[in-house]
Amino acid sequence: MKKFLGAVAILFFLFAAFAAREFVLKKKEVDAFNFHVDEFNACSDSKHWTCAETHLKFLLKELPKDTNLRIHYAGILFEQGRYEECISYIQDQNFQNSDLNFLLQKSKLLIRERDELGIRDYGHFRLELEGYASPIEVQEALSVLEVAYDSIANLFQFYPEDRIHVVMYQTENFQGVGEHPDWVAATYDGKLRIPANLMQYRNVYRPILFHELTHAFVHQMTRAKVPLWLNEGIAQIIDGSHQGVPQPNGPVPSLEDLTESFTKQKDRAKAERLYWYSQKMTEALLEDAGEHRFEKLRDALKDMKKLGIDESLNRHFCKKQGDILYNFVVRK
Ligand SMILES: [Zn+2]
Repeated sequence: MKKFLGAVAILFFLFAAFAAREFVLKKKEVDAFNFHVDEFNACSDSKHWTCAETHLKFLLKELPKDTNLRIHYAGILFEQGRYEECISYIQDQNFQNSDLNFLLQKSKLLIRERDELGIRDYGHFRLELEGYASPIEVQEALSVLEVAYDSIANLFQFYPEDRIHVVMYQTENFQGVGEHPDWVAATYDGKLRIPANLMQYRNVYRPILFHELTHAFVHQMTRAKVPLWLNEGIAQIIDGSHQGVPQPNGPVPSLEDLTESFTKQKDRAKAERLYWYSQKMTEALLEDAGEHRFEKLRDALKDMKKLGIDESLNRHFCKKQGDILYNFVVRK
């Protein structure tokens, strides 16, 4: 599995190797071609597979015989969980290649795994198992996720193009979920990773799944690097589990601390402080933004790549990050 991830990372990058072919294309066509190469790379990089497929199809129309592009296309089908299509596409090719062979075997394996679980409908999700998970746990996770999907989609009026990739994995080191939910128990890193045994803790899995799925939605809305306070703030507001937590002791974190990744924070008290300020900042951002505030937030996230963080927040909410932290949270 791990080995494959590395292979995919290499596979999904088209280089200027195409430059050598450019002499056959006219200037305007070259520009269009390069635009689609860049977009394909950017979309693949952020795991926006539908978007990547659109650009790859354009490239394949120009160079239908290019084996490199055809390998990428098989990979895109695979990444979308379209295993049957992936298999028949590979079988239709008139050349052999180790990546193609790998995708073929892996697709067959995942189809077998799916059939063995006996779950007919995966809804908006694509599922992969690492180790054993009981069909009951899987079904339970998918049902909760589907409910969460509907409510988050409805709130933002946003329906992701791609299926959300869920990995359920086995772990023995799954402690502390009872009375003290361990927030690092499930994670989102382009895939929503859920320890299968989380599903035995009925009282906590719901907010955890809502939280992580919110990250998946945010990821699908933009290719921008979303500041951590906003990403964690939205997820906490939606999971609803941190309502009414009193302000923690200790210094106000810097904007820099709140923007960079803080899930790796070793100091637990500091991590809790960062989460608390994140939620407050996000609440302050949304305050007075009216009934369609989550749709505004969606638009701000969408514009973030083009405009930058502060410009986008300013356009949609008339607030910048610094104001939010110092004027609306600290001095309140
Ligand atoms: Zn989170």
